[in-house]
Amino acid sequence: MHLHMLFDVMLKLSRLKNLCWLAGYARQEYKFDKFMNQIWELNPKAHEWLMKKAVEPSQWALSKDGGYRWGITSTNMAEYFNNAFRDARYLPIKACVEFTFNQTMELFLESRKLLSDCRYPLPKYSWDKYVANQHKARGHEVQIFHEANGFYTVVTGRRPNKRGGNPHYVNFRLGTCSCQKWKELRFPCSHVIATYYSLSMNPTKLIGEVHTLDAYVQTYSGKFQPLRHPRYWAVVDCNFTILSARLAKK
Ligand SMILES: [Zn+2]
Repeated sequence: MHLHMLFDVMLKLSRLKNLCWLAGYARQEYKFDKFMNQIWELNPKAHEWLMKKAVEPSQWALSKDGGYRWGITSTNMAEYFNNAFRDARYLPIKACVEFTFNQTMELFLESRKLLSDCRYPLPKYSWDKYVANQHKARGHEVQIFHEANGFYTVVTGRRPNKRGGNPHYVNFRLGTCSCQKWKELRFPCSHVIATYYSLSMNPTKLIGEVHTLDAYVQTYSGKFQPLRHPRYWAVVDCNFTILSARLAKK
C-alpha cells in the first residue's frame, strides 16, 4: 500500500501514518470510521485529504472496496518480485539479466524445498493461520439464528485484556461473515470455524483452492534451462541509443 507512504511524505507524522494504515486495512466499517475519526481529531486537513482530495476511500480502504480485493493477486505478486529483484536496479544490463535469472531460479528452488519438507495439510504459512483461527474458535460461543437460512451468530470469547465478547454474523448461504475475512481471503475465520465445529462439520473444506498445497505446487512447477554461453545468444537489434557515455561502457 503506497498511499500511506505518500501520506507520510505529506504530513511527516508517524501517528497519522499508522492511523492511515489501520483505516486502510480495517475490514469492518465501524473500525474504518473509528480510525478516520482519530485522524480527524489529530488533523482535520489530513482527514479531508484522505476522504476527498487524494483518492476515493473505495480505492484504498478494504471496508469500502465492495470485496473487489479478492482475485487481484497480481498487485501483491508484483510487489513480491519487485522486492526480490530490488538489488538488480542499477546493475549493467548483462549483470541485471543474470541476477534476475539466478534470483528467480533460487526462489523456485527454495519454495520447492519448503514444499517437500512440508509436513502439514497446507503450506506452512496457511496451516499456521488455520491453527491460530482454530485456537481462537474454541473460545467462541455459537448461537443458531436461522438454521434453515444458514444464519448463525458467534460471540467471541473474552480475553484477559478485557477485549472480545463481540457478536459476528455468519451466513453460509451467502458465504459471508460480518468480519469480512472469509469472503475477502477465501479462508475461514475463527467465527466460521466455530460455527462449523458446532455443526460437527470439517471447516478445512472451506479453505479456498489458492491456499492449498496443490496450488503451491502449481505455482512453483516451472522448469529452468541453464543459460548458454553468450556466443550462442541471438543478436537482437532493439534500436536503443544509450546517451550516457558512462552507461555505454557498462
Ligand atoms: Zn468472521
